[in-house]
Amino acid sequence: MSRPMPANARSAVTPSITAETVTLQHDVEGHPHLVHEARRGIKIATTKLPSIPSSDLMNRAQKVAAVAAEHAAAVDAASRFPAETITAARVERLLGAAIPPELGGEGAGIGEVVDICYSLGRSCASSAMIYAMHQTKIACLVRHGAASTWHQWLLRKIATEQLLLASSTTEGRSGGDVRNSAAPIEWHGSKITLERQATVISYGAAADGIVTTARRSADAASTDQVLVAFLKSDYRLKRLNGWDAFGMRGTCSEGFTLIASGAAEQVLPVSYGEIHRQTMMPVAHLTWSGAWAGIAASAVDRARAFVRKAAYGAGGAVPPGAAHVTRAMASLRTLRSLIAAAVQRFETASADPTALETIDFQTSMNMLKVNASELAVSAVMSAMQATGLSGYRNDGEFSIGRQLRDILSSPIMISNDRIMANLATTSLLSGPPQSLCG
Ligand SMILES: Cc1cc2nc3c(=O)[nH]c(=O)nc-3n(C[C@H](O)[C@H](O)[C@H](O)COP(=O)(O)OP(=O)(O)OC[C@H]3O[C@@H](n4cnc5c(N)ncnc54)[C@H](O)[C@@H]3O)c2cc1C
Repeated sequence: MSRPMPANARSAVTPSITAETVTLQHDVEGHPHLVHEARRGIKIATTKLPSIPSSDLMNRAQKVAAVAAEHAAAVDAASRFPAETITAARVERLLGAAIPPELGGEGAGIGEVVDICYSLGRSCASSAMIYAMHQTKIACLVRHGAASTWHQWLLRKIATEQLLLASSTTEGRSGGDVRNSAAPIEWHGSKITLERQATVISYGAAADGIVTTARRSADAASTDQVLVAFLKSDYRLKRLNGWDAFGMRGTCSEGFTLIASGAAEQVLPVSYGEIHRQTMMPVAHLTWSGAWAGIAASAVDRARAFVRKAAYGAGGAVPPGAAHVTRAMASLRTLRSLIAAAVQRFETASADPTALETIDFQTSMNMLKVNASELAVSAVMSAMQATGLSGYRNDGEFSIGRQLRDILSSPIMISNDRIMANLATTSLLSGPPQSLCG
């Protein structure tokens, strides 16, 4: 049985959100926001949870984002783990934010988590992506580990000690084929072992634990997968390859042989197929999209500053490249609407496994990843065109090189082509919508 992520179960509506905390979720135009806030208020009222204002979480996220911004260039240049950001996130207790209050967390909803990814993405893309991947693993544990004493214990430990979880799905040369695993869980009575060629594990060396897919057993099909959580004391990592990449350099997405052992109860009590469809895929795509929107916003900020400065220098005459800022802003606004609608859709469906399993929901959450990555790349490219050489060079205040390199990871982080190919058959099953506004 899966358990719904508590959608904003922790926080109450705060009437005054400051200009500084205007973020993706909070400045959504029109009715969806009002519906969302009303739902949040009703939840708080009915659950009588301690009321910690949403703005408190976002203020703490802003503090962490400021630290991330300070070190972003150095993290990128050295391709090193953003240790300062993660330390700040621990101090501000952001790592356990989405864990339910009864397990020591704050019960932050998906919208708040996505907004934190957005804030971090505006400062340091790698920090944002690390936070996004960690929160995706937390969501899987929260929503599918409710029936497991061990996973409840683990969540409490994560909240108390602010542990950082990494993710391992990529294996051998199978790329983004997350729905097949090669290495099996070996069962030895109440114990398990696993040895897998994990060719990409972001921040694997820095994490306190790894949540990994695996074949259920030696005689199971490659698609019969489970999800297992291991703490650092449960495994050894033997380095297979390093990470000298074009962008997202601070994610330190190295390859390792993962050699793990633990108790049988560390395997989540639900099949990975169910976890993937109901939580892993939608939450990953939502949080990744938040991080990518942050990168796009950072590029747009620089392009706007460039155009303003150019206009000031020319006695108010707007430079010809300004039109590209308009285009970049339009892409970013479309991206924001797309993410906000998807957040709302997930919140609405999150407690209903049947709704989560529909073709329509699955298609829309898969296409969120494809569309968000394309829009984010488009926004950054437009910002680059607006700034011309000033954005192209690495050494000026308007440089967009890092944002461009980072955002180009988005279409390949689970290849858009692979997602589109997987959706080809289902797209034939449903036709165009009957109406646009109904
Ligand atoms: C920044 C970053 C961080 C990452 N972090 C992690 C992590 O922490 N843990 C983890 O497990 N993995 C991680 N990954 C890996 C990720 O999950 C995917 O496995 C990886 O991006 C896919 O790599 P690939 O392009 O080599 O493989 P593939 O998916 O095999 O793609 C290779 C090529 O084949 C094409 N292709 C593939 N399938 C099809 C198809 N069906 N139809 C048409 N064309 C197709 C693609 O377009 C692409 O050109 C990360 C990746 C990035 C970029």
